[in-house]
Amino acid sequence: MTDQTPKIVEPTIFDLSSPGRTGVTFPAADVPVAALPPEHLLRSDLPLPELAEVDVVRHYMRLSKFNYSVDSGFYPLGSCTMKYNPKIDEDTCRLPGFVYTHPLQPIETVQGNLALMHTLQEWLKEISGFAAVTLQPAAGAHGEFTGVLMMAAYHKSRGDTKRTKMLIPDAAHGTNPASVGMLGMTVQQIPSDARGNVDLEKLKAACDDTVVGMMLTNPNTLGLFDEHVEEVIKLVHDCGGLMYGDGANLNALLGIVRPGDVGFDVMHFNLHKTFAVPHGGGGPGSGPVGVAAHLADFLPEPLVGIIEEGEGDEAPLFGFVKPQKSIGRMKAFHGHFGGGFVRAFTYIALHGAEGLKDIAQYAVLNANYLQARLRDTYRVPFDRICMHEFVAEGRFEGSDVRALDIAKRLMDYNFHPPTNYFPLIVHEALMIEPTETENKDTLDAFADALIQIAQEAKTDPDLLHNAPSTTLFGRMDEVKAARELVLCCWLPENYSEA
Ligand SMILES: *Cc1c(COP(=O)(O)O)cnc(C)c1O
Repeated sequence: MTDQTPKIVEPTIFDLSSPGRTGVTFPAADVPVAALPPEHLLRSDLPLPELAEVDVVRHYMRLSKFNYSVDSGFYPLGSCTMKYNPKIDEDTCRLPGFVYTHPLQPIETVQGNLALMHTLQEWLKEISGFAAVTLQPAAGAHGEFTGVLMMAAYHKSRGDTKRTKMLIPDAAHGTNPASVGMLGMTVQQIPSDARGNVDLEKLKAACDDTVVGMMLTNPNTLGLFDEHVEEVIKLVHDCGGLMYGDGANLNALLGIVRPGDVGFDVMHFNLHKTFAVPHGGGGPGSGPVGVAAHLADFLPEPLVGIIEEGEGDEAPLFGFVKPQKSIGRMKAFHGHFGGGFVRAFTYIALHGAEGLKDIAQYAVLNANYLQARLRDTYRVPFDRICMHEFVAEGRFEGSDVRALDIAKRLMDYNFHPPTNYFPLIVHEALMIEPTETENKDTLDAFADALIQIAQEAKTDPDLLHNAPSTTLFGRMDEVKAARELVLCCWLPENYSEA
């Protein structure tokens, strides 16, 4: 039996409230006092907790310690690239010159911000081999939506209106079919072959003149580089389709392969994965999109451009430009500037070209090291040299222990669980992405824990079924949590929206 009752009932900020305590003193008004709105619009009672500053700080500090984060331990969440985020990024994104600017300021007063955005566009072009880049999309999935919109606009501009079908491999992330569905296109799933590549025969059979294109993640979500990527792209191009690259796994390719050179037409970057923008818990994401020259006219407006070259040593004047056949604006203002662009800019500047290449090589080395240490204990169904991550099966012959039990038991060893049950083509999948920022000691400790857990699965399976047992809360009922969402548990019981 799983114990689903929390061991400790945590007080909410309302429980800590005591009438009359306060954390602020307002100064006397130094502007004329305005009249209050009419009586019927006024609330007689607003149930705010009353606490001193020290109570509030201690409450949230205590809660923050219940969180697991990449700053507190190893976080091998496959596909998410939970690398350690260097703290220098936090310094730069808080520089007053960046913080105290507004997107509606005249461009003459924000030349530094625009120069940073322009440079980031140029660097992403250089890294990916694309002709142009927009920084607007708010996350990877939003980048997909933007990219697929451009693919549709491209076909439409050529009077090619039959194309409504997107090809997506069975290993793909769920956002790929979701983005396509939002545009009213249909999805045809392409199976993987025995080595985890796109099945070329099945792809050939699916290619016809109704194909918008194909969305391919390479390396894919099995952590495998498609061995026939150029043939895949050629097949899609030969039937008139465009090739979308899901760039979530770019970490494995930095400085080594440029998707634009391989023949991809469009690709999103996840600045919050590859370029060390902190993520998890909801943001801020950033999903710039790169395109080959034939799609550049369709990019969202505005892009940051040079609108006047400087004379001699003078800096150019940066401003906003509109691509000729732009699909329009994808986001209010210009994307996630401080949280995304400044941090990613800092990270790229910090590493330089050679450093970026090191990132990819260490990410791949670390994943292969872990795979080598674990493959005798956990079956790896597509067992070949992996890229930055690999997928093992979380099950053992003759045992009812499942991937979820293993993932939860890892929490008792103070590790964040790997991604589980994704990709869907692996039974009881455990998708492990160590990233380049971990040292050998950490990788060994993690491998040792997983090997120990496999032993426990034999000798004491209930230890796994009942895990986690060392955390504040026990095993959650995830289905109930999703079905019966409680989003406002911080409100006091007697609160009503009267
Ligand atoms: C993370 C991810 C996405 C979606 O990116 P978000 O930034 O989370 O929207 C798409 N594809 C793959 C393979 C991913 O790992």
